[in-house]
Amino acid sequence: MLHLRSVYTNCMTLPSKSLGQNVMKNTRFISSNAKYDIIVVGGGLIGATLACVLGKNNRLSDKRILLLEGSKKKEWKLPQHYSNRVSSLNQATCNLLNDIGVWSHIHSTRYGIVKEMQIWESNSEAVINFKGDYLDENLAYIVENDITLNSVYKELQNVENVEVLHEALLDDLKLSSGIENHKLTLKNGSTFSTKLLLGCDGYSSQVRQKMGVLYISHSYQQMGVVATLELEEQCDNSIAWQKFLPTGPMALLPLDNKTSSLVWTTTPSHAKKLMSLTKKQFVDELNENLWSNKKRNVVVERSSRAFDQLLRTLKCPSIKDSQLPPKIVKCQEGSRGSFPLGFGHATSYVQKGVALVGDAAHRVHPLAGQGANLGFGDITCLNTVLGEAAYAGSDLGDLSYLKDYETERQRHNVPTMLAIDGLYRLYGTEFPPVVLLRSLGLQAINALGPLKGLLKSHAAS
Ligand SMILES: Cc1cc2nc3c(=O)[nH]c(=O)nc-3n(C[C@H](O)[C@H](O)[C@H](O)COP(=O)(O)OP(=O)(O)OC[C@H]3O[C@@H](n4cnc5c(N)ncnc54)[C@H](O)[C@@H]3O)c2cc1C
Repeated sequence: MLHLRSVYTNCMTLPSKSLGQNVMKNTRFISSNAKYDIIVVGGGLIGATLACVLGKNNRLSDKRILLLEGSKKKEWKLPQHYSNRVSSLNQATCNLLNDIGVWSHIHSTRYGIVKEMQIWESNSEAVINFKGDYLDENLAYIVENDITLNSVYKELQNVENVEVLHEALLDDLKLSSGIENHKLTLKNGSTFSTKLLLGCDGYSSQVRQKMGVLYISHSYQQMGVVATLELEEQCDNSIAWQKFLPTGPMALLPLDNKTSSLVWTTTPSHAKKLMSLTKKQFVDELNENLWSNKKRNVVVERSSRAFDQLLRTLKCPSIKDSQLPPKIVKCQEGSRGSFPLGFGHATSYVQKGVALVGDAAHRVHPLAGQGANLGFGDITCLNTVLGEAAYAGSDLGDLSYLKDYETERQRHNVPTMLAIDGLYRLYGTEFPPVVLLRSLGLQAINALGPLKGLLKSHAAS
């Protein structure tokens, strides 16, 4: 059961009908040279949601907002097959989407539920298992990105003060540090100006480049291979599985009782091989890596068993309580794809009248399923801060308010990003002393309820 709260008084919910209908019909006539209070550049998951959230904020109801998206407007109809691009959305994200009336569209379409998570590795027997504290508590929701995005655009049609422009690729940007407005020129020559520019244009953000802020980044030299998998029939497919292999983690995210979505991080050469295998070879490779284990180091094995014995004596959860992963029987036709993975962080998210949100500000490894969730967290914070600025009668681009957004979000995002990067590195080695330490650490965390609870609540916020 979904635990959602509602704080927006002006949230309008459409009667549930197929998402394919009426989606994205609300692009209004927009004249060039127009002046807006807020311009959002980039209408991906984060930019579109941000525009919708700001448009529904009572304190900003008199502000004109423009959303610029570079790609073409597509008529979208729910396909029969699942898309291979899904995101694990945490409870805080679902609350946000519910507050703006978007969750009801997702709810009437389709999504998977994660009630439990099991994480283990090929080099040792250590296992960690997360469950909700209550019987009806869900840990996360697996939603196809297209469904989330089209649900947001559908809801945007109800938001009077937001205008949406597709095929609106930002070409030139002149940022102002004084009282002048920022000036934007699109590829088609149209120009716009604004006092507050919100850069949601993804990890190669042009807005960020124009700001000239320091961006710390590196490539993982890894690819994320995604696919939609059919499992041996189960009565309840609600466990998210993640296995750390020496080449990178492999995750299965539940979509329905016999379907899961794969995100397999691996080396570029292995990804290339995976993409070229026949369907049967691909399924065999998946099952082999999911089920088999590496030849384990004897010292690691013995120490891990002894520690587990101790935990069982203390009546703590043990590796013996772990469950067996599902068997994959088929890979959905045409669902295999691969994406490059990288780390990136802007040391500053704001300057006068400009703020970066989502992947434009931070990019993480998908192993913890947190990339978009961090962006949705940015939206909640920025919405509050801009509402406060408007209520106080201040300029929306006032740096002191934007700095509050930056400080609060960096306090959350930086430790999360470092933890994800650290986990990636920790599991990237087969050096026995490190394997020993991490497997004992994992067993200890699994056994200690409060520590596990802490990890769970940080990932859910
Ligand atoms: C394999 C994989 C699995 C993932 N799994 C998860 C998960 O389980 N959970 C999770 O939370 N996150 C996950 N993520 C991360 C998540 O997908 C991203 O964090 C999220 O999509 C970022 O959204 P965004 O809107 O900030 O950026 P983008 O999705 O990159 O959107 C940017 C938008 O800006 C537009 N744009 C760019 N430049 C311009 C311009 N000059 N003018 C106008 N428009 C422009 C683009 O067309 C695009 O629509 C995963 C990522 C990968 C690669």
